[in-house]
Amino acid sequence: MSNLEDKLYTVKYTPDATSHLQPVQECCRLCKSKICTTVCPAGVYEWDEDNRKLIVNYENCLECGACRIVCESSSLGWEYPKGTKGVTFKQG
Ligand code: SF4
Ligand code: SF4
Repeated sequence: MSNLEDKLYTVKYTPDATSHLQPVQECCRLCKSKICTTVCPAGVYEWDEDNRKLIVNYENCLECGACRIVCESSSLGWEYPKGTKGVTFKQG
């Protein structure tokens, strides 16, 4: 296993019913870089060219915050998941 796979193995997800990541699809359609799809270490974002839509697999988010920082139009809505939802890093 690679180091990243090792780390992901120690992660436990408790997904919320709704996404804590809210892209503005109009901005995504105009976005040239789609940089969120390459920056995210967990592969949360996928560009669906057929439907001209950004797909968000928010259940896999590691809450690192990188996508919010790099978003080309600074339009990405980003919050921590509510309460006990989201990611937990296990020891060992
Ligand atoms: S970088 Fe921002 S605007 Fe571009 S596709 Fe990703 S969320 Fe949308
Ligand atoms: S916060 Fe990090 S892990 Fe979550 S979607 Fe953004 S880049 Fe991916």
